[in-house]
Amino acid sequence: MTPVKDTRVPEPATQLLSVIVPAYNEQEVLPEFHRRLCAVLDTVPMAAEIIYVNDGSQDETLAELQRLREQDARVAVLDLSRNFGKEIALSAGLQHAGGDVVVVIDADLQDPPELIPEFITQWQAGYDVVYAQRTRREGETWIKKATASAFYRLMQRIGHVKLPQDTGDFRLLSRRAVEALNTLSEQHRFMKGLFAWIGFHQKAIPYERDARFAGDTKWNYWKLWNFAIEGITSFTIAPLKFATYLGLLTALGAFIFGIYTIVKTLIFGNPVPGYPSIIVIMLFLGGVQLMAIGVLGEYIGRIFTESKRRPLYFLNEYLPPRASDNKSDQG
Ligand code: UDP
Ligand code: MG
Repeated sequence: MTPVKDTRVPEPATQLLSVIVPAYNEQEVLPEFHRRLCAVLDTVPMAAEIIYVNDGSQDETLAELQRLREQDARVAVLDLSRNFGKEIALSAGLQHAGGDVVVVIDADLQDPPELIPEFITQWQAGYDVVYAQRTRREGETWIKKATASAFYRLMQRIGHVKLPQDTGDFRLLSRRAVEALNTLSEQHRFMKGLFAWIGFHQKAIPYERDARFAGDTKWNYWKLWNFAIEGITSFTIAPLKFATYLGLLTALGAFIFGIYTIVKTLIFGNPVPGYPSIIVIMLFLGGVQLMAIGVLGEYIGRIFTESKRRPLYFLNEYLPPRASDNKSDQG
């Protein structure tokens, strides 16, 4: 399929590339990351700004970012008031990006910056969303790989939005894709889903994902589990339907068993009191009901947080790129 080109893209000389980098306790990686990113940006025939989002790090990340900004006039630093999580850090970056095209990349060097020129080539060919798709996962346990793959399959099945498998947040977004994302004000930001939900012309680029360069992953299994629930409940009401059908099925089973019991009692009488069957059925029904209430609770909880309509994040400070400082001083 040849995509229809976004005709609003201006001529090459004036184009600006924004790179958004969420960083949470990444002090060890940042200098190396910045070095590798700059090596790539120097080969790209566009002006660039690099927006580092400090997501409430407890280590020296902020100081490190300020140092990078001193050295490099393209660097902007967005300092969030506390740790809001990667999804919101990304959203904050997207709202501050002024580029004609935006690249979102992790700070831990698991996403190779060397792919960015290829992203840009595809963008120039008319794609709005160009994402990296992993062909291999280094440094991750088989349990993580297996659960991740099961999750993508489940989302493909029950979600109305088809999530591309083995795809992280590393991607390029055209201006109109960024603007589309910025109009989504929901608190529960399942970015992988939102990226797919906005549509436009999307293109996958295969790559091999490296192990992180330094530091530790911020994910543990409990967080991943919650992430999966977030994904499912933000994009599909299938669990609610499942609860309904499970309820119907249980009721049908109870009805059949009831008839069986009545007929049996009428024909053979009831010489043995039915304590075991009663207790089993009671426990089963109780379990099913609690589970269905739990599913309802997940959705009601989300309605609750959305209905408060709080702002997504607060900023301690926004340090724009020094390159654009000069411009605004003159203007
Ligand atoms: N991150 C963030 N806020 C958080 C957790 C992570 O901004 O609360 C950033 C982190 O600094 C990194 C990216 O999100 O740049 C991905 O984090 P991580 O490597 O821990 O996730 P994984 O690669 O294991 O999915
Ligand atoms: Mg990582």
